Formats: sequence, C-alpha cells, structure tokens
Amino acid sequence: MSILAPPNRLFETNVPVLVIGAGACGICAALTAKENGAEVLIVERDEKPTGSSTLSTCLIPAAGTKLQKAAGVSDTPEKFAADLIAKAKNKNDPRMALWIAQNSAATVDWLIDTVKLPLSLLTGFRYPGHSEYRMHGSPNRTGTELMAVLPEAAARAGIDIVTSATVTDLYADSKSGRVGGVRLTRPDGRTEDIGCQALVLACNGFGGNPEMVRQYIPEIADAIYFGHVGNKGDAVKWGTALGAAVADMGGYQGHGAVTHPHGTLIMWGVLTEGGFQVNIQGKRFSNEVRGYSEQAVEVIAQPERVAWEIWDEAAHKIATDFQDYRDGLEVGSIKRATTIEELARVIGCPTNELTKTFADIVAAHEGRQADAWGRDFANVEPLEPPYYAARVTGALFHTQGGLVVNEEARVLRGDGTALPNLFAGGGAARGLSGPSRWGYLSGNGLLTATVLGRLAGRAAARMVR
Ligand SMILES: Cc1cc2nc3c(=O)[nH]c(=O)nc-3n(C[C@H](O)[C@H](O)[C@H](O)COP(=O)(O)OP(=O)(O)OC[C@H]3O[C@@H](n4cnc5c(N)ncnc54)[C@H](O)[C@@H]3O)c2cc1C
Repeated sequence: MSILAPPNRLFETNVPVLVIGAGACGICAALTAKENGAEVLIVERDEKPTGSSTLSTCLIPAAGTKLQKAAGVSDTPEKFAADLIAKAKNKNDPRMALWIAQNSAATVDWLIDTVKLPLSLLTGFRYPGHSEYRMHGSPNRTGTELMAVLPEAAARAGIDIVTSATVTDLYADSKSGRVGGVRLTRPDGRTEDIGCQALVLACNGFGGNPEMVRQYIPEIADAIYFGHVGNKGDAVKWGTALGAAVADMGGYQGHGAVTHPHGTLIMWGVLTEGGFQVNIQGKRFSNEVRGYSEQAVEVIAQPERVAWEIWDEAAHKIATDFQDYRDGLEVGSIKRATTIEELARVIGCPTNELTKTFADIVAAHEGRQADAWGRDFANVEPLEPPYYAARVTGALFHTQGGLVVNEEARVLRGDGTALPNLFAGGGAARGLSGPSRWGYLSGNGLLTATVLGRLAGRAAARMVR
C-alpha cells in the first residue's frame, strides 16, 4: 500500500470519478455521482461485492423519513444528533453529528424510492440510546438483502464494478496530495493502472488488519473479528501518507451477543425487552442495556470469555423477525427451558445462583432493591417461562476511527484544509462514535456508509464536471 509518483505518461484508462470498495458506501457514492452527471467506476478486491455491508443486519437509522411520518413518529435531525452526541459522551464531532443527521432522512427515502431497497420502520423495540423509533430495516434484517439491491441499482444505472481487483497503490503528487490514479493488482499478480480526477475511498476501516487493531484498540485485539476480512486499513494508510488527519482511532463497534461457537447473532432487543446476561457461574456482571458495543469487552472479561444470554417468549417472538435469529434457532445455538432449574442445567451453573439472579431482578423491578449494576428494570416485565438462552461471546464488528472529512466527505488535513480531490466515507472515514467502545449508537456504521457515500458522490461529481 504505497503512494507512487504520477507517471510521465497518460493513463490508458481514465475515469472522472473512481471509487475503491463496492460496499454500501462505495455503491451509494457511485450511484450519486452518476445521478449528478459524472461517469464513475468502482474497483473491488473481491470476486463479488459483499464487504461488511453484506454481513450487517441492514438497520439504518434516520430522522424525519417518510416511513416515520406515516407511522406518526415525530423525529428531527436535532433530536437524532443529540442522541448521537449523548451516546458518545460529547467526545464525537457535534457538527458532524448534526450534518449527518440532517442528511439521513433524504438518504433513507432515496434508498427506498430510487434504489428500491424495501425498508420498513422498526417499532417493536427501541435500540439503546435512540429516543425515537428511527431504525429502518430490510424485510429479513440482513445485509444480504442490502447487497443484492445495491449492485442491481448500479447495473441499472450503467455503473461498472471491476471485481477481483485490489487497489494496491495510489498515484499522487506528494506535495499537493492530488491523486492522479490508482494501481490495481489482479489475483494472478498482473497490475493495471487507471487514471481519475476524483477518488472516493470506500474501502472501510482496519478491522481486518490484526496489527492495526492491536495498535489502536488493544482491548478488543483478542476478540473474534466478525466483519469483512478484506478491510485492511488501506484508506487510513493512503490518507495519512498524503497528509490527511485521522481521528477517534480507538472507536469501534463491538457486539456482546455473538453465539459461541456457532457464530450467529442474537438481536439486541431481547435484552432491552427484559433479558439479561450471566456468566458461567450464573451471576450477572454488567448493565446489559447501555449498548451492544461496550458489552463486547464485558463478556470477554468473564471466565472462558463467554456469557449466557437469557430471554423469554415475548422477546423471542420479536426476534424471529430477524434472519440472524432464525439462523441461530436452526443451527441449535438457542436453547429453551421451562424452569430455572432446567435453565441452570443448560448453562451448567449452580441452580441456587441462577435462582438468586432471577430473584434480584424481580426485586429491582418491584423497587425493593437497587440493581447492583445500575440497570433500570422498572419499564420491563420480569421474564416469564419458557426461557431461551444462548452462549455468547464478544466480537469486533468494525472500526469507527478513520480519515477526518467535511460535509462534502472531502478528506481533510490536520489544519482543516481539504486534500485536492480525495473523498472518504463509511468505515474509511472517522465515524460518530468518539474515541472508544461506548460511543457507538446502533446503526452508526450504515448511517455514515450511506450518508457519506451520498455526500461524496455528489461533491465528486461537482468537482469533475
Ligand atoms: C455482523 C455485523 C452486523 C452489522 N450490522 C449493522 C447494522 O445493522 N447497522 C449498521 O449501521 N451497521 C452495521 N454493521 C456495520 C456495517 O456493516 C458497516 O459499518 C458498513 O457495512 C460499512 O460499509 P462500507 O461500505 O464502509 O464497508 P464495506 O461494506 O466493508 O465495503 C468495503 C469494501 O471495500 C473493499 N476493499 C477494501 N480494500 C480494498 C482495496 N484495497 N481495493 C479494492 N477493494 C477494497 C472490500 O472488499 C469491501 O467490499 C454491522 C457489521 C457487522 C460485522
């Protein structure tokens, strides 16, 4: 991954806007550049575009969408920005939180109306930190649905995606930072050069680069990485080599409910609806509902780096809307028990410990004692049998630190000036989660992938016109 001096010849192939990465960000950027009159090409390392976008649950938050209005949800970008800032404890960029929130509704409406992604508004439960129902999901809540529709939309728009093509180097003037093109490498080692007038980095963060994860986020380096392995931190490496600023490199999305060893995902709503986690001794160890990201390190700090998540029939019914959850039922990662004794046998913990854990929660719910972990149980009913349980571990989903960008998704230097023709979005750019594990508000990943993709595509098209 290096910066090469621009060659003393014309590139054989030239394209006005070039996008690296065919995930949600890259395809949204390319569609938008094309809508705004620019010819555009996407280069993707994999044989087929997938990225972390395919692995996702396809939940995209937005404030003020047509779906929210139809459901009578009164939401505003200001409310959304306030939630984003509160979740990151004021440690993210508040202006960025606002301009991303301000562009969120138009982006989700566009995904539905133009891209033809069949999103619906989730109203069964609220994700931690969101003060309104604003999560929009595909029919089965899977990124596969998202990444079926986006490449189709690119094909309809006449946008080519060059696959099996890893961009290994950028051609750029080291003084000005102006990018002239890229060098890509094919699986057989052949290289090809493509010239461009504007470059969009949509190649996500560094979750797939263990050395970078250990360097920037050592606390999660030994956890499972659940994102796309091709995300090696190339955007950060190229950007910094060209003088770009990075921020919040310790920020990330973790998840504290990946079944182990099966590797399916338990929808977080089972906890917000009254579920809880115990360790293999049957004891709770945290306030589970602060957020799924920060829960990852709580879980891997437990004996054997696992916990058991417990919920009931009411939450089970909500969760069956999620394909990931149905997959968990199918592979047997989700167990069922009709009594606490049976549940203790499933978990392999002492029955008296688990019975005490249940009793303490009832006492907290009835206001007879404060919850030892500071969780408020007043607004949820104690679990009723039958119970469901799964053995889970904590995982890294994606990194949230990256290149600093402005409201046109242009990559900025440390002094706030923009590099001449470089854009970044999605996991390649700094996100909204601040510097650590606790700042991730559900949906921040696809929020900045789609919104920054739109902003980058629009501004790049304007630049090359
Ligand atoms: C299990 C899981 C569930 C998630 N669920 C949600 C959710 O419900 N809501 C949400 O908001 N977020 C979710 N996320 C996070 C979300 O998936 C990501 O934030 C988002 O997909 C990032 O999009 P992207 O386009 O930046 O990256 P990606 O989708 O990862 O795309 C980047 C692409 O760049 C390609 N690439 C990388 N380097 C190069 C190179 N040098 N040359 C060519 N191509 C390259 C990669 O192969 C990849 O295809 C989830 C993540 C995981 C792992």
